[in-house]
Amino acid sequence: MEQQASENYRPTKNPCRLCTPFGACVAFNGVAGCAPYIHGSQGCATYIRRYLIGHFREPVDIACSSFGESTTIFGGKENFDTGISNVIDGYAPKMVGICSTCLSETIGDDVSQFIYEYNKNNNTAPLPYLVNVSTPSYCGTHSDGFHKANRAIVKTLAIETMKHRGINIFPGMLSPADLRYLKEIMNDFCLPAMLLSDYSDSFDGQTWDKYEKNIEFGTEIKDIEKAGGAKASIEFSTTVDDESSAAGYLTETFDVPAHTMPMPLSVTSTDKFFELVSSLSENPIPQKHLSERGRLIDAYVDGHKYVFEKRAVIYGDEDMVIGLACFLAEIGIIPALCATGGQGGKLQESLEKLLPEMISQITVQEDTDFIDINDCARSLEPDIIIGNSNGYKLKRQLDIPLVRIGLPIHDRIGASRILHVGYRGAQQLYDRIVNAFIEIQQEDSPVGYTHI
Ligand code: SF4
Repeated sequence: MEQQASENYRPTKNPCRLCTPFGACVAFNGVAGCAPYIHGSQGCATYIRRYLIGHFREPVDIACSSFGESTTIFGGKENFDTGISNVIDGYAPKMVGICSTCLSETIGDDVSQFIYEYNKNNNTAPLPYLVNVSTPSYCGTHSDGFHKANRAIVKTLAIETMKHRGINIFPGMLSPADLRYLKEIMNDFCLPAMLLSDYSDSFDGQTWDKYEKNIEFGTEIKDIEKAGGAKASIEFSTTVDDESSAAGYLTETFDVPAHTMPMPLSVTSTDKFFELVSSLSENPIPQKHLSERGRLIDAYVDGHKYVFEKRAVIYGDEDMVIGLACFLAEIGIIPALCATGGQGGKLQESLEKLLPEMISQITVQEDTDFIDINDCARSLEPDIIIGNSNGYKLKRQLDIPLVRIGLPIHDRIGASRILHVGYRGAQQLYDRIVNAFIEIQQEDSPVGYTHI
C-alpha cells in the first residue's frame, strides 16, 4: 500500500491557496491595538508581509520571533519571550496576536505554555492580551488561519456580559470596501454590530505625514469582550468547521444564536441576509437598499443577452467560490469549473445543496493546484475566468478574459476597493463581467462597432 501511495503522490505546484498564518495575520490586523506576531522564522514573516503589501498596497507590520539554527534545534522559548517583550516595548499593544508556523509546529514548541509562563514571569506590569492560534501551513489554508484566529480572539477576549441588542458579524476574508459596506448596512438598520475582523482602515488607509505604527485601527477590544452578550451572530461561511468557527464558539459558550449563510454575492443570498438583519434589528429594509436591488435587477435584464449560457472557470477560497457560483448561476453563466485549494471537503456538498439543478454541469476540484485547474479548464472550453491574479497564465493560454476578485490581486491596483458582497457588490461584478464580454465582441468585430 505504501508503495502504491508514493507512486500516486504528486506534489502541489502553484497552489491555489496561501499559507495558514497569512490568514491569521489578516485577522489580527483588523483588531484595534493588536500587533501580529509570528512564532517562526523571518522568512515566513517576510513572505506574509510581501503578499499583504502586494495586495493591499499598504505598509504592514508583523513581528517575529526570528528562528535561527539553534532555535530550530533547541526550541524557540527564549526567542519567543524576547520577541514578545520587544513588541510590548515598541508598540504598547493592547493585544498580541500570535500565530505559529510550519517550523515551530514541527519542532513541537508549546506556545500556550510559553504564554502561560510569560504571563506568570511578568505579572508585575499590566500585560496585553496574548492570543494564540496554531497555524501550521501543512494543515490548512489562509482561510482556515483567518477563521481560527477569529475564534481564538473571541475565545480569549469575550467575557460573560449583560445581554444587548447588538449582533456579531464574521464576514470571512472580504475586501476593505466590503467591510465598509457591511458597516454602512448595519448603520442603516440602526443595528449595533461587532464586525470581526475589521481591517478596512488598517489595510486601506490614508497617507501619513510621518511614520506611524499601524496597529491602531480595527474592531475595538471592548466590543469583542461583549460579543457573548449579543443577540445573534452572522457568519458568512458554509464550509468553516466547528472547531474553527467564532460564531460556533459564542453559541457553545454564551448561547448566542449563530446564523451561518453563504457569502452574499448573489441577489438570492443577499435577500436572505437583508431579511435576517431586518428581523434582528426589528426595522424594515431601508428604501436605499431596495432601490439598489431594483437597479441591479434592471441591469440583469439589460445585460442578459451578453452573458446567457456562457461558461466560467472560478477558483479561490471555498466560501468565495460558493458565493460566486450562486451569483453566476443567477445571471445565466454556468460555473463549469469550481476549484479551491481548500481542504475542508465541503465545496461539493455546498454546491449540491445550493445549485441542485446545475450541479451536473459543474466540475468541482478541491485541495487542488493551478496545474490541475489549468488542465481541467482547457478541456471545458470556458468563456471567462473569475478569480484572483493567479489565473493570469491560464488567461493568456486560453485567450479569454480574467475578471479579478478575491485575494491575492498583485498585478492590479484597487484590490481593497473591489466590492464583492450585497446588491452593490453584485452590481459591480455584473458590470465588469458583462463589459468583459462586450469588449471581446468589439475587439473581434471586423467592422469595429462603436455601439454594441
Ligand atoms: S514555511 Fe510554512 S508558515 Fe512559513 S511561509 Fe512557508 S508555508 Fe507559510
